[in-house]
Amino acid sequence: MNNNVITRFAPSPTGYLHIGNIRAALYSWLYAKKNNGKFFLRIEDTDLLRNNQKYIDYIFYVLEWLGLYWDDKPIYQSNRIDLYKEIILDMLNKNLAYKCYCSEKRLVKIRKYCLLNKLKPRYDNYCRDKNLNFKNKSYVIRFKNPLTGNILFKDLVFNKVKFNNSELNDFIILRSNGLPTYNFCVVIDDYYMNITHVIRGEDHISNTPKQINLIKYLNFYIPNYVHLPIILNEKGKKLSKRNSSSNIKKYLEYGFLPEAILNSLLRLGWSYKNNEIFHIHEMKYLFDLKNIKKSSCILNFKKLIWINKYYISKLSYNKIQLYFKNFLLFNNINISNINNISEIISYICYRSFLLKDISNFCLLFDDNYYLLKKNDLSKFDKDISIKILIFFKKKIFIISMWNIDNINKIIFELFKKFYFLNKNKIYKYLRFFITGKIVTPSISMIIFLLKKNKVIYRINYSIKKLFNN
Ligand code: GLU
Repeated sequence: MNNNVITRFAPSPTGYLHIGNIRAALYSWLYAKKNNGKFFLRIEDTDLLRNNQKYIDYIFYVLEWLGLYWDDKPIYQSNRIDLYKEIILDMLNKNLAYKCYCSEKRLVKIRKYCLLNKLKPRYDNYCRDKNLNFKNKSYVIRFKNPLTGNILFKDLVFNKVKFNNSELNDFIILRSNGLPTYNFCVVIDDYYMNITHVIRGEDHISNTPKQINLIKYLNFYIPNYVHLPIILNEKGKKLSKRNSSSNIKKYLEYGFLPEAILNSLLRLGWSYKNNEIFHIHEMKYLFDLKNIKKSSCILNFKKLIWINKYYISKLSYNKIQLYFKNFLLFNNINISNINNISEIISYICYRSFLLKDISNFCLLFDDNYYLLKKNDLSKFDKDISIKILIFFKKKIFIISMWNIDNINKIIFELFKKFYFLNKNKIYKYLRFFITGKIVTPSISMIIFLLKKNKVIYRINYSIKKLFNN
């Protein structure tokens, strides 16, 4: 085995990357960086039925967004089919593998039998020693897993892990469609890519003994294994590709910053003193596989939001603007209709938890999104609303200097004039008719940022709407 650290991230493009995948990528990347080693990207795309190009594009987008750049060119397993087949043929010739002609019907029957008898479902090795070779009959190729003995391996997180060969299957290495399977390709590729540390989720720990058996038969070296404990959501449920709260796309839609995601994932089951915040250069320096905890960990969404706000307030304004631009592109949000957009962003930016808070705030200033929903409108007293709006409009109209103090003064006059109404209620009226929303940040600030003409336009629109209602 190579002495220089070589790690890899090997996603299967069968779904959007999830938080667990990203953590495996981050730890693999950090460990390679810390040791001046290499970090490779391998796309495990041999499952034709479930692969999708959009998931591949997404892998690149997310890794680049996070700044987890890989060394050399990415490897696609689909480009290596000839190599896999050559090795499988050799295994057949050396009697390390065999053709299995069992029908789906038969396999279902075995599965049912195992379930009924509370046995672990496994193939019964029917074709194992028969040396079958039929023409024009569909078959799969299975690996001849040792029938007895144990597989013992040292995992850098879970320490000694032991499996009994009798629990393992003669697993399929070549499907009937002529494509090799995950457990086979991973062994071949890790070997040819000189991978020294296989860092991946705990869900793969049961694949490891199968892979080690194959490695031994092929006379390859055994890499170091690092299985990362499973991540649970706050309800204690395992995160998976199908679980939308773990899908990294959701985090891009909310407007999390890469720094916050990396920081939170680093801290999941790994610690250094009591530090909460780690900058990427510190991560590279401090990260060590030794400090990974064995127990499962919980992704705390509230904490993640808190960390995001921390980064929004700490990063340079230019950087946040760049992230925000990408966020808008990613989510197809158009804010180009708003005139004084930089003024609006600079006000809301450091008050926001997520980039979505910034875009939601910006859209308050786009007339295309200004709408007085019937349902909400019906909650406001028509006569009072009209009176408040007419009074407010008159005052706004003659304001000499458009600044927040003068706007607040007018609101104060409103309080006096409508003394019989609670102040909060008056804010509620203004907020709704000027923005169409029930909840917003400071309404006087919104009025200021909207500018006089737009405020008057919206008041006129509201009055008309109230009369027609
Ligand atoms: N392709 C596998 C997955 O997406 C990872 C394989 C590995 O890291 O060994 O779960």
